[in-house]
Amino acid sequence: MDFSSTFEASTSLPAVAARRYAALPRPSLQFTEEVAAKTAPQWEKMKSVVPSVEWPFFAPYIAAINDLKVVRNAVILAHNYQTPEIFHGVADIVGDSLQLALEATRVKADVIVQCGVHFMAETSKILSPSKTVLIPDMRAGCSLATSITAQDIRAMKAMYPGVPVVTYVNTTAEVKAESDICVTSSNAVKIVESLGVDRVIFLPDQYLAKWVASQSKVKIIAWKGACEVHERFTGAELRAFRDADPSVKIIAHPECPPDVIAEADFTGSTAAMIDWTKKLGRGRVVMVTECSMADNVAAEAPDIEFVRPCNLCPHMKRITLPKILDCLLEMKHEVEIDPVIIERARLPIDRMIAVK
Ligand code: SF4
Repeated sequence: MDFSSTFEASTSLPAVAARRYAALPRPSLQFTEEVAAKTAPQWEKMKSVVPSVEWPFFAPYIAAINDLKVVRNAVILAHNYQTPEIFHGVADIVGDSLQLALEATRVKADVIVQCGVHFMAETSKILSPSKTVLIPDMRAGCSLATSITAQDIRAMKAMYPGVPVVTYVNTTAEVKAESDICVTSSNAVKIVESLGVDRVIFLPDQYLAKWVASQSKVKIIAWKGACEVHERFTGAELRAFRDADPSVKIIAHPECPPDVIAEADFTGSTAAMIDWTKKLGRGRVVMVTECSMADNVAAEAPDIEFVRPCNLCPHMKRITLPKILDCLLEMKHEVEIDPVIIERARLPIDRMIAVK
C-alpha cells in the first residue's frame, strides 16, 4: 500500500506537514501475495495464538497501518491487554501503564496512537503535550477512572487535611491534577513507602489499596472503586483449578479481590506477571487478569501452558485494527486537555517517575 502518490513530491515543511495531517484515501485491504510477504514477520510471531482463518482479514490492515505510521510519523503504544493482532502486528511499544507512560516521554514521533483506554491516552498527552495524541475509540473508558471525580478528592482532602493523596494512574487528568503523587500497580508499595508518612489517602481501587496495605506498615485510607474485570474473579474458581492440577501456578493482578490474591503463588503488575512467567520457563500457569495478556505472553513463552479463567475488558476491546486504520487515515480522535490541568496533572506523574 503506497500512500506517497497522494502527495506532491516535495520536502518543504508545509508539504511535510500536509502529508502528516491531511485525510488519506482508504487502501484496498486485499490479502495479496505482496501483503502476505510484507506481514510474514508479524504472522510468525502470532501464529500460535491467531487462527489462520483470521489472518487474511488481519494482514491487509496490519500492512496498511504500518505504512501509515511512516507517512504520519506516528508510533503506536499498546497496552498488554490489547489483542495479539494489535500487540504483535502494529505496536511499536508495548507494556503496562507505567512502561507506556515512561515511553511516552521518550518517543520522537509527532503522533502517538494510544491502543489502550482513555486515561492512558491522557497520560501520554500530559507527558508529551506538544504531540498529537490519538485514540482509536474515544469510548474506551475504565471502571476505575469513572469511579472518582476531582470533587470527590477535594472532599477527601477536606476530611483528612495534610494526608498525602496517592492516586492510581487509572484516573482522569482532572483527578490526577488534585493528587500529590501517582502510582501504578508496579510501583504502588514502593511509592507509598517513599513518602515517609504513617498514613495516605490511596485512590480509587479498593483492592489495590488492600494489597498495598498488606505489604506495608503505612495506614491506607481507601476509596470504593474497582476494576470491573478483576473483581469478577473468585477464590473458589482458583481453588477449583488447583484441585484439578496441584502443580499449577496461579499468578494474579493486585486489582483482584483479597480471596483471589490469597490463592495466588505470585501477585504483581502485568509487567511483573510477564517477567515471572518467562523466568518460570515451563509449566501450567493460571494467569488471573484480562484474557488477551495470556495470549500475548503465550506467543513468546511456548513452553508455558496457560489456563485462562477468561474475563475480557470491554473497554480495551473497543480498540480494533479497522479503528486504528481510520484513526491514522483521518487523524481522529485527538485527545485534548486544558493546559492548566496538564500542568497540574504532570506534577504527581513526574513525582512518581522520580522515585527510583
Ligand atoms: S481491565 Fe479494569 S482497570 Fe484495566 S482498563 Fe479495563 S476496567 Fe480499567
